[in-house]
Amino acid sequence: MTTSGAGSGRFGGLGQWWGVLAGGLLVAAWLNRAAGPAVIIGLSAVVLLWSFFQAPVTCGAPVRGRADGCRNNATGLLMGCHIRQHRWQKLKMLIFRRRVRAFCSGLFSDGKAALVTLAAVGSFLSGLVALVPGVAAQ
Ligand SMILES: [Zn+2]
Repeated sequence: MTTSGAGSGRFGGLGQWWGVLAGGLLVAAWLNRAAGPAVIIGLSAVVLLWSFFQAPVTCGAPVRGRADGCRNNATGLLMGCHIRQHRWQKLKMLIFRRRVRAFCSGLFSDGKAALVTLAAVGSFLSGLVALVPGVAAQ
């Protein structure tokens, strides 16, 4: 595992999954009505940021001669690996519309990516529902 100055290597592999822990707290906050919307919104934001910019997923940037793309570790669904050309690859894919489909298929390319994607979608929805009480009441 290579880290490029982010300092996340100290905790080893498991430390990178702290966002899942935060996700667990988020579920607990939803089950426990006493937590209140502020806690839920805060935790939702934390989990969303983790899955976008911190989660340990595979880079997946297109590489000449490799159908499955770059296999390096990336930091988050929106970021690539330590290779400079890969770093902003996924954000670029979101900007150029014809690449969005490729980006979306990458979201479920393996178990890790699927888990992180679900965490992102779940925390986004949770934050939305907490921010807009009317959404939950439909
Ligand atoms: Zn890469």
